[in-house]
Amino acid sequence: MRKLIVASNNEHKIQEIKQILLDFPLEITSLKEAGIFIDVDEDRETFMENSYKKASEISNYLKNKGQQNFMVMADDSGLEVEYLNGEPGVYSARYAGEHGNSKKNNEKLLRNLQGIAFKDRKASFVCSVVLITSTGEEIKVEGKVNGYITEVLSGSEGFGYDPLFFVPEFDKTFAEMSAEEKNSISHRGKALDMLKKELNKIFDTVEE
Ligand code: IMP
Repeated sequence: MRKLIVASNNEHKIQEIKQILLDFPLEITSLKEAGIFIDVDEDRETFMENSYKKASEISNYLKNKGQQNFMVMADDSGLEVEYLNGEPGVYSARYAGEHGNSKKNNEKLLRNLQGIAFKDRKASFVCSVVLITSTGEEIKVEGKVNGYITEVLSGSEGFGYDPLFFVPEFDKTFAEMSAEEKNSISHRGKALDMLKKELNKIFDTVEE
């Protein structure tokens, strides 16, 4: 089975990626599971540039170690709020200053939208994925989902901004959805569906 290293240390994201790619014949490992302890600085201006940086640094690291039979995938994602001119964007994970502190990030988002009517609280989650195959071929895909930022946190599933991201079609926040529901419409689900199609084109032996 082909091996895929996911260049991330975010356990929630890795679980989602594993679940979405479950029907795909790939052995998926996180950086930690692969014994790689590199923290790539996400210092670029777009999600795609950050994903590319993460995937290429890990891919080059493996090549330099003589390990050729791995594909490397990186995902960079975040929330863009229209009223805030696209903030928090690439700063989503550290919006309130401390990397990965969802409670503080959510509080800051609510503060910045205080008094703003629901119709003006439009937001999108974006997910850019880059996969580099063992022969150096590059696949780049991006998924997006539109919604609204609620005024109070609702739901306990998922992670990050999920309790504040309301999807009208489901009449639920991401945190009120089951993993299957979220993955069926999420930015990450859409990006990975595109990725599967691209992978199928490359590996015609791989079935969807
Ligand atoms: P990164 O892609 O690891 O840089 O993290 C992006 C950040 O965006 C996460 O830490 C979350 O705050 C937020 N984010 C990305 N995807 C999701 C999601 O599916 N649900 C909730 N928050 C997300």
